[in-house]
Amino acid sequence: MNFELDAVFIEDSERETALARRIAAAVQDRAPIENVADGRVPARAIAGADSFSAGKRRMVVMRRRTPFVMSCPAGSARFACCGYLVMVLASNCPMDCSYCFLQEFVADNPGFQIYSNFADAFEELERIAHRAPDRHFRIGTGELADSLAFDTMTGLSRELIAYFAEREKLTLELKTKTDEIGNLLDSDPRGRVLVSWTLSPEKVWRTSEHRTAPPAARIDAARRVLEAGYRVAFHFDPVIAYVDAEREYAELLDHLFEVIAPEKIAFFSIGGLRMTPGLRAAARRRWPRDPMLLDEHVLADDGRLRTFTPLRLKLYRIIADRFERAGVKVPGYLCMEAASVHERVFGAAPASPATIGERLARERERF
Ligand code: SF4
Repeated sequence: MNFELDAVFIEDSERETALARRIAAAVQDRAPIENVADGRVPARAIAGADSFSAGKRRMVVMRRRTPFVMSCPAGSARFACCGYLVMVLASNCPMDCSYCFLQEFVADNPGFQIYSNFADAFEELERIAHRAPDRHFRIGTGELADSLAFDTMTGLSRELIAYFAEREKLTLELKTKTDEIGNLLDSDPRGRVLVSWTLSPEKVWRTSEHRTAPPAARIDAARRVLEAGYRVAFHFDPVIAYVDAEREYAELLDHLFEVIAPEKIAFFSIGGLRMTPGLRAAARRRWPRDPMLLDEHVLADDGRLRTFTPLRLKLYRIIADRFERAGVKVPGYLCMEAASVHERVFGAAPASPATIGERLARERERF
């Protein structure tokens, strides 16, 4: 996809890295390039009408000064978590979903940061694998950024796939709302790379997922990477309760299964719309006419505003039911929900986060 950039900043010490060179070559006719001593400076918010939007168009190629790999920041003892590890290779995103938590999470540092020393993450992964030689881990890059936005320019996926293809117990998950899969189709994942798409009904895409690929294009991209040897998974997150939601989520699932046989899907996840009061205020300020943000929400005991529980569970059940009725057991989990909610949706208590993480990471494992 062709995202707009106003400027690219490259840290002086990183100018000769392969990543900086690739980006400089790719953007030379699209945006001015400036060298800076410290990338953290242009990454900061600039006073103005919408510094978050401006940050999305200001790419900063810089060293990451803190660890790359961590437990999922959404994890909590309150929730039945999925044991996901996050590898932060970039921060912020050129797309602009009205509900995106980054509007609050990176408000002070909204520049689109890409970390040129990303290969240091591989050493962290080696240490994790060494400490727990019997375990499998699922590691995703799509938490503070979309995994594939700008991949045509950065070529990062090629280097990640080459690394993970050689690691039996480490599974990479590339999570995206794009159809930017060109580099994936040229690589051999050896069954150790998952590509997952977040899916919403067409109406949510039109009102709220700005500059993302349409849902049908995401599903078609999934079909193509599946044929190229990748595992595929889908996230229905955030599920939003709007007037036609019940019918339209069911239709989305029907379309998905027409294109991709359910038994080919590695797993799915479901999560509800959830916003801290600060995020909801920021989102409504930026998107005052977005109908998906205007419903009444209940302040839950985790401090987030959520859809009224019976309504949200009804939508979760519609999605889970569609998978159950498909006739094969596709693993599913809930994101940022309590074990009691998991039980009401799936009819059984969730396994421990480590067990779920292990199962999702393993090739073709069913549970
Ligand atoms: S694609 Fe993901 S990271 Fe990008 S704006 Fe949308 S929700 Fe945020």
